[in-house]
Amino acid sequence: MRILVVEDDPDLSRQLAEALKDTGYAVDVADNGEDGHFMGDTEPYDAVILDLGLPIIDGISVLQKWRADGKTFPVLILTARDQWSEKVSGFDAGADDYLTKPFHHEELLARLRALMRRAAGHTTDSIEIGDLLVDNRAARCFVEGMPIKLTSHEFRLLSYMAMHKGRVISRTELVEHIYDQDFDRDSNTIEVFVGRLRRKIGTDRIETVRGLGYRLIDPENASKKS
Ligand code: CA
Repeated sequence: MRILVVEDDPDLSRQLAEALKDTGYAVDVADNGEDGHFMGDTEPYDAVILDLGLPIIDGISVLQKWRADGKTFPVLILTARDQWSEKVSGFDAGADDYLTKPFHHEELLARLRALMRRAAGHTTDSIEIGDLLVDNRAARCFVEGMPIKLTSHEFRLLSYMAMHKGRVISRTELVEHIYDQDFDRDSNTIEVFVGRLRRKIGTDRIETVRGLGYRLIDPENASKKS
């Protein structure tokens, strides 16, 4: 999953980016409303953390522009203390949730997970595909109850496919949702990651749909059907 952080306080922005990366997300940052708006307009983020007090274009205006342009990604706004009217304007502009500064990173991460799983139509942080379990809270995966050791890129790939289980996902979509902007993006590396992931979780759990992409499936179910 890929997150955009729009925050002009350099310390807070860096802390947020680090906490999010440690959790296994790809993260891009912007320190003003103009850059933030552009990034959200051109890249398909899974969620956005948006400060409201921003240089060049304020957060409410950024959010209004995105929503007017049909951007549906979940947005969590960061508001100053005692500014209840900011929260109301934020929700009116299309925010999905808010946090008042200062806040605990754990709470931010929990709210983000809730926003992303809701957006993808899941009710919990753990997603089961047959006997494969993907725990997005702990960033871990289990096969038949046994923990599988994955690199952060492998987990991101698996987590994104689990969020969208049963659907065919193109290489381009995977590239866009598991790499941050600075990463050297090459869709061929997706094949390498898929290959490694298959070796770790079982070859037949990731189906290749020729010319279209990949699909995470429950092999038991698939064989029963055919
Ligand atoms: Ca600010």
